[in-house]
Amino acid sequence: MNDSTFSELNISPEVLKAIQEMGFEAPTKVQSRSIPHILAGKDMVGHAQTGTGKTAAFGIPAIQMANKGSKTPSVLILCPTRELAIQVTGELIKLSKFTKGVYTLPVYGGQPISRQLKALKKGAQIVVGTPGRVIDHLKRGTLKLGSLELVVLDEADEMLNMGFREDLEQILSYSQGKSQTVMFSATVPKAIRNIMNRWMDNPEMVKVEGKTETASGIDQYFMEVRDSMRTEAISRVTDMANFKLALIFCNTKRKCDSLVQELQSRGYSADALHGDMRQNVRDKVMNKFRTGKIDMLVATDVAARGLDVDEIDVVFNYDIPNDPEYYVHRIGRTGRAGRTGMAISFTSGRKKKSVRFIEKMIRTQLKPLPMPSAKEVQLSKMDNHIEEVIETLQSGGLREYIEQLEPIAEGDFTPIEIAAALFKMRLEKNNIDRVQDSSHEFKSKPKKSRKKRSKRNY
Ligand code: AMP
Repeated sequence: MNDSTFSELNISPEVLKAIQEMGFEAPTKVQSRSIPHILAGKDMVGHAQTGTGKTAAFGIPAIQMANKGSKTPSVLILCPTRELAIQVTGELIKLSKFTKGVYTLPVYGGQPISRQLKALKKGAQIVVGTPGRVIDHLKRGTLKLGSLELVVLDEADEMLNMGFREDLEQILSYSQGKSQTVMFSATVPKAIRNIMNRWMDNPEMVKVEGKTETASGIDQYFMEVRDSMRTEAISRVTDMANFKLALIFCNTKRKCDSLVQELQSRGYSADALHGDMRQNVRDKVMNKFRTGKIDMLVATDVAARGLDVDEIDVVFNYDIPNDPEYYVHRIGRTGRAGRTGMAISFTSGRKKKSVRFIEKMIRTQLKPLPMPSAKEVQLSKMDNHIEEVIETLQSGGLREYIEQLEPIAEGDFTPIEIAAALFKMRLEKNNIDRVQDSSHEFKSKPKKSRKKRSKRNY
């Protein structure tokens, strides 16, 4: 695991404040290794994939190095697609929220050039662009790279795959000799090494690799569910499987807090564990979890380090971790001491890439797990209640209840109808407490009969 903190990385107080507001608790590995090199002015190649926190790894130094208030850009970030350019710009805007005089402008194909011309004229210190559109502006003379101090090639291998080699070389030839060059790439094939040799000066190599052995007794799943349905997914899976202790990981402190509130309002006994809490409060929460006083613990990676509880039934990755090594640590909290465990990682859209990357690193495929429908949850609860009914019948002590019910059974209703009514009342009460029926919001599995439905997965 990565043990450094953001404050050890020479980050300005303004950016530190933004990081705090974004809820990042500690730097990811690629951040703690790259930021010092970039801030020291060295050329660097980060061998890292999406999901590792690479945007902030170059974004934090870029904001600090930008020439505040200048009319011409001092940082140019090149991305293969407009989507990535927009995403990177969004992250930089958040990171520079408290830094005065830094404006980040995206320039990409597909957007009217006139708008970009106006914005460039006003002055941007950081430009994030796709190679084709950047070349366009260079040719028109609307983008001037004379004051450039840092060039970042993000997802460089993708840019080469997409046929941007000549554009890249042309852009690099504008900045060569004057500026520092930093590149992030998931792979480092020959074409990338050619760029390094030609355009970079003795670059530092930062490769993020970690321990990626997972325990064998853990069933690993991924569930495709969009952000707004994740709390619902946790509720349904937990209710269906009747989990006693669940550990849920989020990537930020803020998310931990908001998720705890959502879970508590659904009637779960949940609590958070993260770095903003004092040590004695954290100890108390851990103790409550260990002794079963709370059944859901929502934690960040850093705070969960000291957690030693053997009976955790399931680990949810509400957010996919930034580092496959974290994934291994997280899911290793279940399936301990010879028990079997379950790990469910939520994913959606672009984030699916992160799952593929984890699968590659741990050399195991995560199995797809559909989100259970509200109906399935209800049927499963019925199973659990039937078991309880049988246990109650077997343990006896029913005399006084029988006496209360006998008059109804002698009237218009059969004993089985009375039992069914009691059953319905109990299930409906639980439903109001927990499951909100939003089955129209997701793909439901084909209905199966209660007997045939496999309970193994849950
Ligand atoms: P990236 O690899 O840059 O696409 O980042 C993946 C996700 O991780 C983004 O949603 C970031 O906002 C988030 N992220 C980046 N750094 C951290 C950090 N230190 N702690 C938690 N989340 C982070």
